[in-house]
Amino acid sequence: MFCANCGKEIAEDSKFCKECGTPAGSTAAPVVSLPIAPPAPQVKVRKDFLDSPGWAKAISIIGFALALVTLSFVWINEMAPFTYGFSALGLILCILAMATRNRNVFSLVGMIMNICIVFIASIQIAVLVNPPSIW
Ligand SMILES: [Zn+2]
Repeated sequence: MFCANCGKEIAEDSKFCKECGTPAGSTAAPVVSLPIAPPAPQVKVRKDFLDSPGWAKAISIIGFALALVTLSFVWINEMAPFTYGFSALGLILCILAMATRNRNVFSLVGMIMNICIVFIASIQIAVLVNPPSIW
């Protein structure tokens, strides 16, 4: 048997624990229970989360809206860093939505628009950083 106090093994005929002196008797094997958490279904949760129609629709519309917003100042070369940032964010959102079962016209059109805007902004930034000598 085992000591109820310290968990050391006690001889069956002993009345006290040799280690800590606790009276033996109503002792059982110490319950060394490690907290065993059930495996977290992270992948499933994440998939369900991304597959929820509301979520996909929301990020699609936000991504599409970002494309529209950046279109308003994509023609201003000096705004290129902002253009790039906004459209890159919109592109990520649209791609996330496209990766779900609930892809829609906003995520598709937004993705295409944001790809084009990111491309334009990249050229603008390249020109700003390293102006062609002919200008
Ligand atoms: Zn003991």
